[in-house]
Amino acid sequence: MRFDILSIFPEFFTSPLNESIIRRAIQAQQIEVHLHNIRDFATDRHAMTDDRPFGGAEGMVMKPEPIAAALEQVAAETGGRGRVILLSPQGRTFDQAHAVELAAHDHLVLLCGRYEGVDQRVVELLVDEEISIGDYVLTGGELPALVVVDAVTRLLPGVLGCAESASQDSFSRGFLKHSQYTRPREFQGLEVPEVLLGGDHAAIRDWRLLDSVRRTLARRPELLAGIEFDAAERKLLTKHGLLVEVAQRGGIFPPEKKRRGRGRD
Ligand code: SAM
Repeated sequence: MRFDILSIFPEFFTSPLNESIIRRAIQAQQIEVHLHNIRDFATDRHAMTDDRPFGGAEGMVMKPEPIAAALEQVAAETGGRGRVILLSPQGRTFDQAHAVELAAHDHLVLLCGRYEGVDQRVVELLVDEEISIGDYVLTGGELPALVVVDAVTRLLPGVLGCAESASQDSFSRGFLKHSQYTRPREFQGLEVPEVLLGGDHAAIRDWRLLDSVRRTLARRPELLAGIEFDAAERKLLTKHGLLVEVAQRGGIFPPEKKRRGRGRD
């Protein structure tokens, strides 16, 4: 996966890209991250990348020409334009399903706004999609770009070791992950749940599913809508009095497939 990041503050990325899993992914050539300073593409003698808004208003707007020139250079370097993403508080709110979609691409171009944002013609002519990382306004698109790089990179094959597998994370099945414990067994009067110490893998699996469902019901019940539970899970949820609540939140219990009778066509 190749990421090209366009920003007027490319130094912003130096430290975050140089730590932990992202650093290892770069070293292992599982991802490449290319930083481009939009200022290098300014055409006037003051290297201006922003200007006053037409119609008059507060703040400055990022000019279209340096951004277009930076994108052209990326296309020339790579032989293709990639998927161009503008980080914007007005975009589609980023989530795990979206990260999975983006991980299927092999080239993402992340455009970081500053000031009041970018000229609308950039959005209409050059951008494939706008991504917001939440309903709040940051000073620039650099942190959101890093959020996208991080969430996408950890989904790429081989980036996480088995021990860190993304397949068990919150949202991978649509709802929240169960609580987790490590040593010591007792901390300030709180004990690790007994079942986790016993080595009964079926009991541990059941406990984890119940804990996941309970904490999702308590914190993010809307996440249960459309989640499918199989017959064994249905039985477990029934036994622990959770089935009705999960169903009310939109959890789905598909009917069991009928087994074919012996000797019949
Ligand atoms: N004036 C804009 C508005 O009201 O929609 C906000 C501009 S913001 C101060 C500057 C830049 O930060 C944006 O162009 C965008 O790139 C980035 N940004 C701010 N909040 C963001 C968010 N929640 N998600 C993604 N990008 C964001």
